[in-house]
Formats: sequence, C-alpha cells, structure tokens
Amino acid sequence: MSGIIDATADKVVELSGGRRVLIPREIVSLIPFEDFDDAGLWLPNPCVDCGRDTTPRDGPHEYYMVDADVWATAGMHPCGGALCIACLETRLGRSLARADFTDALCNGFDVLDSERLAARKEAR
Ligand SMILES: [Zn+2]
Repeated sequence: MSGIIDATADKVVELSGGRRVLIPREIVSLIPFEDFDDAGLWLPNPCVDCGRDTTPRDGPHEYYMVDADVWATAGMHPCGGALCIACLETRLGRSLARADFTDALCNGFDVLDSERLAARKEAR
C-alpha cells in the first residue's frame, strides 16, 4: 500500500483469488508495505524462473510449500521467492509427489489450485 498502514487496528486484506483474511492489529506492523499494491491487494508472486504469476487474481494458483531439502535441491534459498510447478520440476529433473510437500495448511485441498498442483498433491 502506498500510504501508511494503521497499525492500531485490525486490517482486512483481500488476497489474490478474492479470499479475504483478517490481519490482527498485533501483526499489522510486521507486514512489509511492498507486499501491497495501492488497492491493498497482494501483489503477484512471480516464478523466479519464468515470471509466471503463481497466485494470479483471475486464474489458478500454484501456492505450496515443499520440504526444505527439496527446495534446497532445486537451488532455492528459503526466502528466494516462488517457483511455478513446471520450473521447480525442471530444476529437480523429476515430477513432484505428495511426499515432497510439507504439512502446511496451504498444501491441503484448495479449489484455487492449478490442475497440475492438485495432481502433484495427490501423486504417489
Ligand atoms: Zn516458472
């Protein structure tokens, strides 16, 4: 957000995809301003390899968390940004499977998942 975020009040944020979440005032001040555009929406999460937005507002998402070892094998720093499924699999030289994903909430069923992410979450 280009203005000042009021850190004394809870804030409702609309995520890409249209979901809304309540950010408690206790952590509003911890959210980096650069994560918001002028409308208060999340900015895109571009794949660091191909530039494809992994969480577009009007399309399927590829928002997931894989085990740290898998991410490191792909040559990614823990805070190194996002990779789409295709680029992560290219880096790994193999397809992802359920065992590669952590128990994070984002790895559960999500109607916003792309077909290929949903398939990988179920793959053995
Ligand atoms: Zn990519």
